[in-house]
Amino acid sequence: MFMQKTLSLIKPDATERNITGSINIRFEQAGLRIIAQKRLWLTKTQSEQFYKIHKERAFYDSLCEYMSSGPIVAQILYGKNAVAKNREIMGATNPANAEIGTVRRDFGQSIERNTVHGSDSFENAEIEISFFFSLLEIIE
Ligand code: ADP
Ligand code: MG
Repeated sequence: MFMQKTLSLIKPDATERNITGSINIRFEQAGLRIIAQKRLWLTKTQSEQFYKIHKERAFYDSLCEYMSSGPIVAQILYGKNAVAKNREIMGATNPANAEIGTVRRDFGQSIERNTVHGSDSFENAEIEISFFFSLLEIIE
């Protein structure tokens, strides 16, 4: 068990419904700590940069359009096995397949509007954290 940081995004479908607190209580109750946080409204170009690993996928343009359609909350979660723990709390990509009690099952609206993002590996967490945060913004 390693103490890790991971990037979490609360997506526009959730800020629109005013449910960011209902989501973040899940992370805190599972033992993850929010050590950096900010609300942003990404441009389409910024969304495309963030999701560039998906640029060949059929859903890329629609995903980037959606991610820049309203505010998001970017945050760093810190704790034991934070990368995997966050993915467990989030649930599967498609809310219809996510386990009961996960954020995506309980709040997700569709495979695209699935409420939260979480880094999928330690390496990607480092890259994604540095996309959104500088060292000065991280209170460990
Ligand atoms: P995850 O967010 O679970 O890591 P992916 O990295 O595969 O999933 O996809 C990134 C995001 O793209 C998803 O969270 C979702 O918002 C969107 N997405 C994934 N697959 C589809 C799809 N088949 N149709 C529409 N949007 C999708
Ligand atoms: Mg992913």
